[in-house]
Amino acid sequence: SVRTRFAPSPTGYLHLGGARTALFNWAYARHHKGQFILRIEDTDRERSTPQAVQAILDGIHWLGLDYDEGPFYQTQRMDRYREVIQRLLNEGKAYYCYATPEELEAMREAQRAQGLKPKYDGRWRPEPGKVLPPPPDGVPPVVRFKAPTSGKVGWHDLVKGWIEFDNSELDDFVIARADGTPTYNFCVVVDDWDMAITHVIRGDDHVNNTPRQIHLYHALGATLPHFAHLSMILGPDGQKLSKRHGAVSVMQYHADGYLPEAMVNYLARLGWSHGDDELFTREQLVAWFDLDHITPSAARFDFDKLRWVNAHYIKETPIARLASEVAERLARRGVDPEHGPQLETVVALYRDRADTLEVLTDLVLPFYQPVHPPAELVAAQVDDLARTVLRDFRARLETLPETDWTPETIAAAMKATLAACGVKMPKLGIPLRVVLLGTKQSPAIDQVVAVLGKRETLARLDRLV
Ligand code: GLU
Repeated sequence: SVRTRFAPSPTGYLHLGGARTALFNWAYARHHKGQFILRIEDTDRERSTPQAVQAILDGIHWLGLDYDEGPFYQTQRMDRYREVIQRLLNEGKAYYCYATPEELEAMREAQRAQGLKPKYDGRWRPEPGKVLPPPPDGVPPVVRFKAPTSGKVGWHDLVKGWIEFDNSELDDFVIARADGTPTYNFCVVVDDWDMAITHVIRGDDHVNNTPRQIHLYHALGATLPHFAHLSMILGPDGQKLSKRHGAVSVMQYHADGYLPEAMVNYLARLGWSHGDDELFTREQLVAWFDLDHITPSAARFDFDKLRWVNAHYIKETPIARLASEVAERLARRGVDPEHGPQLETVVALYRDRADTLEVLTDLVLPFYQPVHPPAELVAAQVDDLARTVLRDFRARLETLPETDWTPETIAAAMKATLAACGVKMPKLGIPLRVVLLGTKQSPAIDQVVAVLGKRETLARLDRLV
């Protein structure tokens, strides 16, 4: 059965590219009713931090990418790597190299001077009939893999098609450093082999590692997985996506008010398509996802489209959940929605106008804290005539019992005011919005007044009119 994995190096947050890789691995495993495995590649101890591990777990969790096994940590598998390195040494498929870093630099310098691409020259590589010098004292050796020197190595990439390299371009790469720690290319292969990974789906920044890894699989007698290398994500300007373009951490999108459903939907469309479908549920994604419809060309991140997708999910999300998301965001701003109209009602009134939860929170804010309309706005919108109209309206509202405080009775009061004052709707509606909410725009004003409640509506009118 299909087994995929997401194998991040915990050196920062979960960025958009990583999240997309995780999502594709997850969706492919779920589509095939296989397993999705999480593996933390933390062998680079200097750059890996527990905070970064947590940030990655948080991101995966927020996106709802549940994994069946893991998280595994490479730092907990060191004994296993040592064992496999020893085996390769014993079988003559790897060897100790005592060349010092200075010596190697001099070697590369000489190669460059001859116009050659720098590459390990095999000076410690054992060959039949070759006599190696005795190991120098006090030089801890690295372990190098004895790679084929001629012929080609290639694979049918499930995204990019056939890819091959000349073995003469590769060299005997290091699999264990002088301090004994194994290197990335080696650990990945041992892990993917031990974890019986069938499909390696990852960013195409790893294409150059794949031929080396294939040689290792062969040396270990392991079955090759399928490889699928995803093209990178570009910013709207066609340059590699980076902080310059806006947030690249997935959790920043959470903070900015994006729903995980929107993020998953949008990320899925970055390089993958299902006909013209732009909006689909998680279930549809799982049902439709395959590797055939991944474009080999780079995908462009479109922030406007993400907002559009998010607006769609804000309209679709059950109101109770939306309200609890907004409640959290109000709390973060020190606002308690207990003192004011029922949050679900206000959220229902405004959700169609918001493309992020932060915008939605901004919109409901005037219902839960005093509004201070800007003086210029009041001066421009609430002139003498408007004041007369608002006073008339206030007098009518005053007579409405709280038990009969509904959009219908309020709309009737508005109509009566318009008739009595001989003005049209904007002369009442706009000043009323400014006074009650501090803005010129809002949903239907009779609904706003109904939700705001009698006491608060009259109090706000009294303050400014
Ligand atoms: N740890 C690698 C990275 O974060 C991924 C390795 C892989 O997917 O093979 O780039």
